[in-house]
Amino acid sequence: MTDSFIPARRSFLRHTGQFAIAAASTALPGLAVSSVFSASGHSAAMTAALESSSASPSMIDARGLAMFNTHTREKIDLVYATGQRYLPQALGGFNHFLRDHYTGEVGLMDPEVFDLLHRVQQALGTKGSFEVISGYRCEATNRHLRQTRGGGVADKSLHTEGRAIDVRLPGVPLAELRKAALSLRAGGVGFYPREQFVHIDTGRVRSW
Ligand SMILES: [Zn+2]
Repeated sequence: MTDSFIPARRSFLRHTGQFAIAAASTALPGLAVSSVFSASGHSAAMTAALESSSASPSMIDARGLAMFNTHTREKIDLVYATGQRYLPQALGGFNHFLRDHYTGEVGLMDPEVFDLLHRVQQALGTKGSFEVISGYRCEATNRHLRQTRGGGVADKSLHTEGRAIDVRLPGVPLAELRKAALSLRAGGVGFYPREQFVHIDTGRVRSW
């Protein structure tokens, strides 16, 4: 009678052992999420951990973005979304990073702008840091730029609504960046070879 219990007990141990391993592997992405909130960036190792994890579909969908601001010389590198969920703290960081550098005004960026940049990088099969020439612009700055620079600064610029960004991607020819942005068929794409940037916005699909 005792003998008949032993295999059952072993079987139970084996199952709890497997359960413990499964629990440990689902705990890993959870830790990664909390470090997204506390740390200011995502390391390559963490990104690899997120991508290789099979525990949670939402963590596989973690989307990050690295940017360098050519005016303020600031850098930022954050995971800003997992699946359908944008991370408010990261969006706040991006909003501040992309503030109007003339006035210091912090605008509210449309998170889909970041998704466009993320998708552009996916289309190009590259990572790396975008150089940002312009993000949010308050109305006064837009008027000022329009008066002083004229062409290329629209009267009703989507920059004033936080729906546009001007970028280049070091190591990627500007024409390639434009092509990748156009391939998304999402929003507007403007090509500025003289100033060396591509304008990307979440407005209707158009290009110039
Ligand atoms: Zn622009």
